[in-house]
Amino acid sequence: MQLSKGGGPSWQNHTFWYLVQISQVLVLPQKVREMAGDAVNITVIDRKTYLLFVPNIPMEVFENRNPLYSMHMPLIPAMKEDHMDFIQGDVQGIDVETQTVEFLPVERLGAAVNRIHYDYLIIAVGARLAYDKIEGFHEYGHTVSDTYYGNRLRHYLYHEYKGGPVAIGSARFHQGTKTRDLVPTAEAACEGPPVEVMLTMGNWLQSRNLGGPDKVTVFTPAEWIAEDAGQGIVHALLAKAGTMGFHYRNNTHDITRITKDGIEFANGPSLDAELKIIFPDWVPHAFMKDLPISDDVGFVITDMTMRNPKYPNVFACGDAAAVTVPKLGILAHMGAEVAARQIAKDVGLMNKELADQPMKPIVDCIGDMGNNKAFYISSNTWYGGNREVFRMGHVPYLLKVQYKEMFFRTKGKVPDWGIPVADFLTEMLTKG
Ligand SMILES: Cc1cc2nc3c(=O)[nH]c(=O)nc-3n(C[C@H](O)[C@H](O)[C@H](O)COP(=O)(O)OP(=O)(O)OC[C@H]3O[C@@H](n4cnc5c(N)ncnc54)[C@H](O)[C@@H]3O)c2cc1C
Repeated sequence: MQLSKGGGPSWQNHTFWYLVQISQVLVLPQKVREMAGDAVNITVIDRKTYLLFVPNIPMEVFENRNPLYSMHMPLIPAMKEDHMDFIQGDVQGIDVETQTVEFLPVERLGAAVNRIHYDYLIIAVGARLAYDKIEGFHEYGHTVSDTYYGNRLRHYLYHEYKGGPVAIGSARFHQGTKTRDLVPTAEAACEGPPVEVMLTMGNWLQSRNLGGPDKVTVFTPAEWIAEDAGQGIVHALLAKAGTMGFHYRNNTHDITRITKDGIEFANGPSLDAELKIIFPDWVPHAFMKDLPISDDVGFVITDMTMRNPKYPNVFACGDAAAVTVPKLGILAHMGAEVAARQIAKDVGLMNKELADQPMKPIVDCIGDMGNNKAFYISSNTWYGGNREVFRMGHVPYLLKVQYKEMFFRTKGKVPDWGIPVADFLTEMLTKG
């Protein structure tokens, strides 16, 4: 891969900058281009040529649409628009001393391993969703985290489901210990989706005269489900779900095994279920383990400007970063913005005061509930803040659908006012 000379000004004796960014977070290279302009050459390496819009997969599944047809957005036209190079490659190693990334071109089988040099590296490869570590998942488990599994569940619901009990919940998340001073420790990686699927499942059962919420048990390895949403919201949510008839099991510690008849846990009795919808441990990629930039489990250590303290030309954003807890898209977006400001500062295009504002994490999510309704959570109390907003209704649903449409239409460039306006409308129109 030939890197071309950057067209922008030269700074600090560098005549040009190379930046290799590994990510599906399209927003990240776009933000870097927006803030650092032509002072950087950007190369994106991803094993896929499309972006998978994960948050709306459950909605497609329960509304009996194959998510394969609606949740893929082509990456290459968006990259071309912002003059970025794109390599369809599988990253297999990073050497932070020689500043090289090792990758295998994957467009055709049989390619030889290649290396690319970087001046700056932003690691945004997400995490492995470790279903393969759960005994019995392959035979008896279901999930909604990609289009294959989503469509498999859709088929099960509409063609095989016999009306038995349903269990929905997470395996234990194993967070590293090196960033404990920056973010709290979570026992589940991302519990918005199990809450969303629980509510949608209850509505789906009712709408098909197959029962209702009382057939559904949601479980968590932690003391509280979705604890990162803050105690006030979790209590309100559990009270509401209890009134609707859902069952709840906490402190399961981990999933030990999935069988034909149910789920066995590390703590407490097993749960009988015909349908088992599972969210696994989010595990760092094998090539990230034992790198000098990684924590004790393999997530990339950064400060809250998403910069690695030992190797300041290395950044991480999204699920791959140790400080991204829970593993949420909104935090990936916030991290992208913060990292892009740092790069802009380094190339002399942004002043220190503006660039050095750290990420202030917030759990912001809209989850489908079925019947054209959704819940909206916006909270930072888990991180020590005082914002706690929880709403349910038709407006968040409309915004969830519209956000995805806007994301695809603008090739990822949802205007900066998009999320705040969505938040504002949700809060105003669902008050009371
Ligand atoms: C069912 C579900 C619903 C969710 N709903 C929400 C929601 O409503 N709101 C929210 O904020 N978050 C939600 N999340 C979480 C959100 O999807 C993730 O936090 C977000 O996708 C993380 O983005 P990322 O770019 O860090 O990682 P990913 O989205 O996983 O992207 C990683 C990219 O890196 C590429 N890659 C991986 N390994 C390699 C490699 N070795 N070489 C080259 N490329 C590689 C992949 O192809 C991919 O394109 C949900 C998650 C699930 C499972």
